[in-house]
Amino acid sequence: MDYFPLFCRLQGRRCLLVGAGDVAERKARLLLEAGADLWVGAPDFSPAFLQWAQQKAVTLLPGHFDPAWLTGCWLVVAATSDDVVNQQVAEAAEKQQIFCNLVDAPQQASAIMPSIIDRSPLMVAVSSGGRAPVLARLLREKLEAMLPQHLGQLAQRAGTLRDRVKKQFGSLNARRHFWERFFHSERLAQTLANGDSERADQITDALFSADIASQGEVALVGAGPGDAGLLTLKGLQLMQQADVIVYDRLVSDEILNLVRRDAERIFVGKRAGYHCVPQDAINQLLCEQALRGKRVVRLKGGDPFIFGRGGEELEALAQLKIPFSVVPGITAASGCAAYSGIPLTHRDHAQSVRLVTGHLQKSGTLAWQTLAAEQQTLVFYMGLAQAGEIQQQLIKNGMRSDMPVALVENGTSTRQRVVTGTLNELEALAGQVNSPSLMIIGSVVSLRDSLRWF
Ligand code: SAH
Repeated sequence: MDYFPLFCRLQGRRCLLVGAGDVAERKARLLLEAGADLWVGAPDFSPAFLQWAQQKAVTLLPGHFDPAWLTGCWLVVAATSDDVVNQQVAEAAEKQQIFCNLVDAPQQASAIMPSIIDRSPLMVAVSSGGRAPVLARLLREKLEAMLPQHLGQLAQRAGTLRDRVKKQFGSLNARRHFWERFFHSERLAQTLANGDSERADQITDALFSADIASQGEVALVGAGPGDAGLLTLKGLQLMQQADVIVYDRLVSDEILNLVRRDAERIFVGKRAGYHCVPQDAINQLLCEQALRGKRVVRLKGGDPFIFGRGGEELEALAQLKIPFSVVPGITAASGCAAYSGIPLTHRDHAQSVRLVTGHLQKSGTLAWQTLAAEQQTLVFYMGLAQAGEIQQQLIKNGMRSDMPVALVENGTSTRQRVVTGTLNELEALAGQVNSPSLMIIGSVVSLRDSLRWF
């Protein structure tokens, strides 16, 4: 961290601005908005400064920079058009251990002024540490557009309710739930935006009287195959509101980093040398946590309804009438195909795509004949251990032995690896990759060479 972010109260505190041109004027406006006791030193002053002085908003120090001006100051801003003077100011401030902001040379300054989005009392500050000011500005513009104007009023209102909330809700959890309802309330936002404070009071009261010690609930959230960028917005929102996260091995660290920091994390996957937590135990765990009033997110790799046993978990919840929801995710087949340049269907190659489990409990459960048919793409999940059987059965049932195949290991992650070959090599290729890997079989794989660079 190059700069420590800090919000400081300047009200009534003496600040020195050296320079009194256009740039200095912009800084002066900000400092005055923050209520600083502003002293401005320069040989000449622009009309704005003269006017502020007349209104007694600033104190002028006419003349060339004098280190004595710094006495009693909390913050200095050097905003002259002369680099040498700015440097002198910075050195003098350094000697007196006063933070100094240097206009146009932020990297030499002991303090920088970030780009801000002001929804007072809510304030968002963005800084690139002086390295990429344009990037910081672009980000600021995005945030400015994203953050509605009424947020300031909402934060203001929240400030006035803190004591009442503490009195009414004993536990931290109940308080957090209240605040989340408060900040998510579309109706409240709308009335504040319309400036209807009477109606806003009514809505706020209703939020207090609602049954906050609410029942728990479970959301099955598809986390996608690995790349956190493939998470849905809805999935992310639920992850950031959850009390408990139940996850397994297929959920990447990158995605877990996006979970609300205080949420309890429960791992139910297989670790090296140990067995998975049995499905029944997972179902039970989800029910128990929800019955304790927790908001549970069951994070699953890919999509919860594609070889994710999501259906079984929901059955258990439904039996106990525990509210649940399902957020789909990008399944490994889509993710791996997109990130390895293999379209799953193509007018000239495949008119259908089949997602197949390679976890063949009973041999002969799969209709190999239909799987071996032309003009389709097969995607095998959990197929590594059965690669030999898959190879044999497909060839036996009429698929050509030189059919292109691809194995995608850790698809969509930074560790993605793709090996390709033909069907008669499938078993050998499977020996070259580790779990999780996906097998794609079909002539679409041949398109990879021409598509992967784009
Ligand atoms: N619900 C998941 C699939 C779970 S089954 C989904 O929709 O994607 C587990 C299998 O999925 C693994 O054995 C592997 O075959 C495949 N898989 C999941 N993530 C993968 C990834 N990032 N790369 C390759 N294969 C993956």
